[in-house]
Amino acid sequence: MKNHPKMRLGIVSALAEEQQGLVEAMQGPYKLMHGMRAYTLGKLWEIDAVCVLSRIGKVAAAMTAATLVEKFEVTHIVFTGVAGSADKNVHVGDLVVADALIQHDMDASPLFPRFEVPLTSLSRFLSDQHLSDEISAAGVDFLADGLQPVVGQLVIKEFGLARPQVHRGLVASGDQFIGSRSQLHGIKEALPDLLAVEMEGAAVAQVCFELGIPFTVIRTISDNANEDAAIDFMRFVQTVASVYSFNVVKRLCERLAGVNLATVSSRDGGHGLKI
Ligand code: SAH
Repeated sequence: MKNHPKMRLGIVSALAEEQQGLVEAMQGPYKLMHGMRAYTLGKLWEIDAVCVLSRIGKVAAAMTAATLVEKFEVTHIVFTGVAGSADKNVHVGDLVVADALIQHDMDASPLFPRFEVPLTSLSRFLSDQHLSDEISAAGVDFLADGLQPVVGQLVIKEFGLARPQVHRGLVASGDQFIGSRSQLHGIKEALPDLLAVEMEGAAVAQVCFELGIPFTVIRTISDNANEDAAIDFMRFVQTVASVYSFNVVKRLCERLAGVNLATVSSRDGGHGLKI
């Protein structure tokens, strides 16, 4: 296991709102364009960081994650964004931290089992436990402080954000916005433990697995992946998700800066789990 005496954290989101305020909060920011994306390097609450917007979808996310590692030499990656709920106990305004990620549109059957990424023998890619623990704790801290000061009572009422919670479990990604009950049902039937659906996380997970980079994915639930999803989504992203992302990443960096970085686990994010 290689040690990382110095952590460099890659922070990725698909949409600008999911990373709002982070670049502005950076000390000594330095912007570099590469492959049609802006990578901003600097310090975020004492942590050496690189912020980038991947854009939407698995290929865009994979390209961005690989570039972060190979060109910008990040040692760890965090994806922060929004997702649709895939479980009745996961509500709009909750946070989901991915313990494992799966590509729900990967199906090379009958050559390989449904969901298995050919030639890896894996369907589920595990996130780094230490980073996931830290970001979950950051999420719990943020929610414990209450949403009223940061989003206001009207927004809390509008989205029913009375008792937001942090969940951990399986997140699925695919190149589809899931906006109907039947679409979600088709995925959930095969993956009953699924908590959320989105479009990038599992691609980042595969790249990090293959390159041996610890990573985690945190998603604020923006919609219920049903017929109302597209309507709820835009307004939620603008008014709520941006506030969540900023505050959770801030608390994560503060936590990471407080730990001895030598103890931050390194290449043990690369475990996969076969289903
Ligand atoms: N109308 C938007 C499209 C966003 S796509 C636009 O034009 O910008 C949805 C984004 O949010 C993706 O990055 C995905 O990761 C996440 N997401 C949120 N809810 C989702 C859902 N129900 N299905 C799939 N992805 C979802």
